[in-house]
Amino acid sequence: MSKFSNHNFANQKALIRVDFNVPLDKSTFAITDDTRMRAALPTIQKILNDGGSVILMSHLGRPKDGPEDKYSLKHILTHLSNLLKVQVKFADDCIGASAIELASSLKAGEVLLLENLRFYKQEEKGDEAFAEKLSKLGDVWVNDAFGTAHRAHASTAVIAKFFPKEKRFFGLLMEAEVNAAEKVLHKSEKPFVAIIGGAKVSDKILIIENLLERATDIIIGGGMAYTFMKAQGGQIGKSLCEEERLQTALEILNKAVAKDVNIHLPSDSVIADNFSNDANVSTAPSNNIPDGWMGLDIADNAQQQFANVIKKSKTILWNGPMGVFEMSKFQHGTKAIAIAVAEATQNGAFSLVGGGDSVAAVNQFGFANKVSYVSTGGGAMLEYFEGKILPGIAAVNE
Ligand code: AMP
Repeated sequence: MSKFSNHNFANQKALIRVDFNVPLDKSTFAITDDTRMRAALPTIQKILNDGGSVILMSHLGRPKDGPEDKYSLKHILTHLSNLLKVQVKFADDCIGASAIELASSLKAGEVLLLENLRFYKQEEKGDEAFAEKLSKLGDVWVNDAFGTAHRAHASTAVIAKFFPKEKRFFGLLMEAEVNAAEKVLHKSEKPFVAIIGGAKVSDKILIIENLLERATDIIIGGGMAYTFMKAQGGQIGKSLCEEERLQTALEILNKAVAKDVNIHLPSDSVIADNFSNDANVSTAPSNNIPDGWMGLDIADNAQQQFANVIKKSKTILWNGPMGVFEMSKFQHGTKAIAIAVAEATQNGAFSLVGGGDSVAAVNQFGFANKVSYVSTGGGAMLEYFEGKILPGIAAVNE
């Protein structure tokens, strides 16, 4: 059992950093996707069940200069109360007299939500005095905001120094994210395949470099595959290409040979004469795309080729779509990969989908519960895969 699960929070005020940065409808301020709120519920409920009380702090959006009504966390108060089945209290300022008063009078089983932390510039600056003021509100600090764990902000990292180590905890969401990432990066059962897709090589270089040290196979799909094709002398028509990364692509391929990692590039592509769902569509070898055409998805042979690698793997990491999955004509490749990952998972593989658009894709195709773990942290998970130390994790452990 973990430190958090073992701890009894009875009669303690737990100051929890959550990630309630949920999308809101522009005119009604209704929550359009409450996944992040739901993800934090088990942590909150465990503390309430123990007989503790909870003070929640979060950011919402990117306020520029002080309070802005559209970024107020008051918009989520009613929904949060409904989810928790508790009438949540609200402090209209995250520090100051009203927050202190509401926090100090909080009773066991009660929940207080603080106003948007980013109404203070000090939050993102990691200001110590601001962090200290926040710290005074609770007896213990729980970090459950994996989505902001890559930021050294006041509430996500700097605040840690105002709590002794035994009063700092990872929440259950944070624990689950870290355990899933660790299982893939440091405890992977082999063969370990990393499926890397998306638009740009430049965004994924650090991940690929880190995975070259760990993976058995790396599948490269999506727009970034064409820079690799061109680097090897292929004809890619008007497919996405980063000219300034051709050399990087060759270096990655050479390193993979030296490290005995198999790199798989898509043998064929669905090609289009336009970046549009109305485009004329055909298929071609990925290294022989006619002038005036662009590769927008992996085609049948590539789907089969990649599925074969995935199905023999015991550990699977998936980041980035295989094509322009937002358009129905170019979503088949990403869907085929989702099916292969689901099948491998059913046969005992551990699969983690993390970082940005691949998460959107598995959700869109209804595969989220057919893989082992879907990460809630986009940028944070990417940095974890790049091998970086995340300040929000280090702060709890140090
Ligand atoms: P990323 O955020 O780097 O994972 O990239 C995701 C984006 O890459 C999605 O919006 C996809 O539409 C886009 N994408 C995937 N494959 C291609 C492709 N072959 N050509 C252009 N864009 C692509």
